[in-house]
Amino acid sequence: MDYEVIIAGGGPVGMWLAAELALAKVSVCVIERLEETSPYSRALTLHPRTLEMFDMRGLKERFMEHGKPISTGHFAMLDTRLDFSVLDSSSNYTLFIPQEITEQVLEEHATKLGVVIRRGEEVVSVREQDQDQGVEVVSVRASGPHANVSVMTAAYVVGADGAGSTVRKQAGIAFPGTDTTLTAVLADVELAVPPENGIRSEYTERGGVMIAPVSPDIYRVILTTPHLMHVPKDVPVTLEEIQTELRYLLGTDLGASNPRWLSRFGNATRQAETYRKGRILLAGDAAHIHFPAGGQGMNVGLQEATNLGWKLAGVIHGWAADTLLDSYHGERYPINTQFLRNTEIQTSLLDFTTAVLAHRQLQEKWFRHTEINRSMAEQISALDVGYPAAEGMPQHPLNGKRFADFQLRLSDGTRTYAYELFHEGRFVLLHLAQDAKIANELHKIALSHISYVEAVAEEAPVGWSDVHTVLIRPDGYIAWAISLEQTDVLRTIGEGIASWCSGEPVLL
Ligand SMILES: Cc1cc2nc3c(=O)[nH]c(=O)nc-3n(C[C@H](O)[C@H](O)[C@H](O)COP(=O)(O)OP(=O)(O)OC[C@H]3O[C@@H](n4cnc5c(N)ncnc54)[C@H](O)[C@@H]3O)c2cc1C
Repeated sequence: MDYEVIIAGGGPVGMWLAAELALAKVSVCVIERLEETSPYSRALTLHPRTLEMFDMRGLKERFMEHGKPISTGHFAMLDTRLDFSVLDSSSNYTLFIPQEITEQVLEEHATKLGVVIRRGEEVVSVREQDQDQGVEVVSVRASGPHANVSVMTAAYVVGADGAGSTVRKQAGIAFPGTDTTLTAVLADVELAVPPENGIRSEYTERGGVMIAPVSPDIYRVILTTPHLMHVPKDVPVTLEEIQTELRYLLGTDLGASNPRWLSRFGNATRQAETYRKGRILLAGDAAHIHFPAGGQGMNVGLQEATNLGWKLAGVIHGWAADTLLDSYHGERYPINTQFLRNTEIQTSLLDFTTAVLAHRQLQEKWFRHTEINRSMAEQISALDVGYPAAEGMPQHPLNGKRFADFQLRLSDGTRTYAYELFHEGRFVLLHLAQDAKIANELHKIALSHISYVEAVAEEAPVGWSDVHTVLIRPDGYIAWAISLEQTDVLRTIGEGIASWCSGEPVLL
């Protein structure tokens, strides 16, 4: 076996997954077709839940250095912006940052953790070997005088190779959904007359335009207009087309010139019927495609890679049953189905009929209501994501919920933010009850993938006042929480750890 995991595709999702696996001491190789990171940044935002995840790994500051926090987001280009500043998160904003930089930071992070990255190679074949031996991956290096073919094996292969995924096709995983019915246009150009504050969004019966800075001298212009929306995706975009449309919409072409990237994209919406087939898994655009409304696709891919990393590591290291890996599809497929519906709802509002324009006005009014605005902001930012509570443990309202950061006072008196406990990508067993007898037993747990911490919550968030002990997963979701009223605490905690992180009794 050459590696425990081979990842096809070193875009944002492949690189982040590789880093998560390497952090968990799994040997990983990424095979990426491109020699260098693509200079064409599709995504321009990192949303709150993704920033929280990076915070948990001590990586958030690296992104903050390159990005610009913005406190609002949008839904279907409606005038009423979504207010992220009211969200219950230490990252209550979206970070404006080109995908190219995000990918570079992730690659640097993965490299530091020891991930082997083979650039300039294309995966052409993926085949599960007989008798559950592993997976054979064939890749081709096309550059140079001779094509160079490599054959490698791994215990698992993940297809993070984007929308046209070779891995998905090789595994025979169906990709049902709908074809493109609407297209929009993207132009990264210089603007002689840029918008004040850099950002502009207009939507009338003539069409919709959104403008945002990509770099100090380049602006992204996105156009969704009655003239353009039925042009097939493969028709090349021209600068004249952009200038003409801007003049029609705004009365000026803003001096658009020197295009760096012109592209047309559509609303084809599809999802892999399964994210796992035996030893082959899918993540990111390889598993789902959609219209890029609300800037969510890369964020969702990064979040699901965080869900997958520790599970795959657990199965490889032998402390988790194979069923834990099935829970990757079990947990993410329904979440992503919701997310695809959300992009379809937005797309349905990107039309110019009288009825749709009236509907947009109505939505704008609704979004002025704080609760509605907040609920939609929680959806776009993915802060509303939670997973079903695990069976077999006493019920607690926190079970399955996202873990939001808060301050702790540790047993040695020092103060820390809870997210700092997750830098190693381990489970965190947090004992808050100051129960010396129980703490004495919990100290004895010797599992390398669990950090045991005794602390007091400095500013206990809502719902935490009755928590005795809580187990938080490496991806920042609460496996289970035990209340102060719980009887037979030690046995219950022992069972909870055994079922999530061991398979065997860990406490007597
Ligand atoms: C116009 C537009 C705007 C967008 N804006 C946003 C946004 O603001 N926010 C957001 O979250 N998302 C946005 N998205 C979506 C986002 O860009 C994607 O969801 C994201 O890039 C998916 O990441 P990925 O790693 O899964 O796939 P990709 O980024 O597609 O990466 C796949 C990688 O695999 C490589 N590869 C492919 N085939 C092979 C092979 N056979 N062998 C080896 N390597 C291979 C490719 O070269 C590529 O590097 C936008 C998309 C578009 C089109």
